[in-house]
Amino acid sequence: MFFDKKAETMPRGELEELQLRRLRENAAACYEKSRLYRKKFDDAGITPDKITSLSDLRHIPFTVKDDFRDNYPFDMFVAPMGKICRLHASSGTTGKPTVVGYTKKDLDVWSDCVARLIVAVGAREEDIAQVAFGYGLFTGALGLHYALEKIGAAVIPMSSGNTEKQVMLMRDFGTTVLVSTPSYALHIGEVAGETGVSKDLKLRLGLFGSESCTVEMREQIEKSLDLFATDNYGMSEVMGPGVSGECEFRCGLHFNEDHFIPEIIDPATGEILPEGKTGELVITTLSKEAQPVLRYRTRDITSLTYEKCECGRTHARMEKTAGRTDDMLKIRGVNVFPTQVESVIMAINEVAPYYVIIAERENNRDTLEVKVELTDGSLLDSYARLEGLRDKIRHELRVTLGLDIKVSLVEPKSLERSLGKAKRVFDNRKK
Ligand SMILES: [Zn+2]
Repeated sequence: MFFDKKAETMPRGELEELQLRRLRENAAACYEKSRLYRKKFDDAGITPDKITSLSDLRHIPFTVKDDFRDNYPFDMFVAPMGKICRLHASSGTTGKPTVVGYTKKDLDVWSDCVARLIVAVGAREEDIAQVAFGYGLFTGALGLHYALEKIGAAVIPMSSGNTEKQVMLMRDFGTTVLVSTPSYALHIGEVAGETGVSKDLKLRLGLFGSESCTVEMREQIEKSLDLFATDNYGMSEVMGPGVSGECEFRCGLHFNEDHFIPEIIDPATGEILPEGKTGELVITTLSKEAQPVLRYRTRDITSLTYEKCECGRTHARMEKTAGRTDDMLKIRGVNVFPTQVESVIMAINEVAPYYVIIAERENNRDTLEVKVELTDGSLLDSYARLEGLRDKIRHELRVTLGLDIKVSLVEPKSLERSLGKAKRVFDNRKK
């Protein structure tokens, strides 16, 4: 199913013409109205009129998260405040948040972009959709909210938390679509099971985003909530959700390429990598009026394919992200992504999908510990079985990561449950 078939199946030649036209307009607006971009262009010795093909994009300097912080709150805006009609901000763990502004047209394009992604996985006007993202400055909840309304679904703006009530409404209202982070969906499934309402739920579709989730974790969520789980991707700096998302075939996330140009670079050198190679995703917005962003370094690690998809969409697809460069832990010279640990844990039946990863430095040596919950607490009474299981997990982790990792098995339900983005990695070496 399509929300905007003409745009989503546009022949690539036509699409690239449209991208170039929008890129040139966008770069010109940035150069003319933004002090930040004028300086970036001047420092690089280029002017927007030198962009005559899409490959000229490589000459434009990158934008990074610090540019948002340094221009806090509104200096990244290109449109005057009179034209701005929404402000969002992402919660920075340190320092100032990054602020994003939208014009009326930006909001309309935003909800169109998200609507495409949710229709592509089967959301429709008959659906009753429960938004269990936290409402507020975060772009996730309102981003999905307006798109769901746009396609005519009935939206329940539940927000995150209050999980027992969440589950009760889900049953009483006959909710068919759940919007949340994957880790919160996992917890909702757990509470539905404990309160005995799982069998009464009518969920059929999960629209999950805002954190990376392995295929194994997703299968676990599908089993516990009996729904079809799908992944969509975005970030507030370039818009919010609606940048890319899976179609019904779940073979990568289609970019809304008429509104964004994706590139993959080598995070160390900044060099552009060819199709299929894994590196850092860089995004250029093509239609944002309030706050266009040129070549934003997302720090997300993925790859791109331009092969036409079975669904008929012509837009490039990105692989599910392996994680962020920020999440990557370097342990004794080995790069470890939390998603690699997750894949190993999810394949082992005796442990639950709840874990944390702790990095420490002891005697000038980095150590890594994985704490994971047992599904059956009685195992704690048998030293031999416990040791056997610990050895098995340690072995699997060594095979996957090439590292010796300490494994601690803890009681069922002893680790904290996440209501939003899960905090699973604790790097105590930075303290
Ligand atoms: Zn597709």
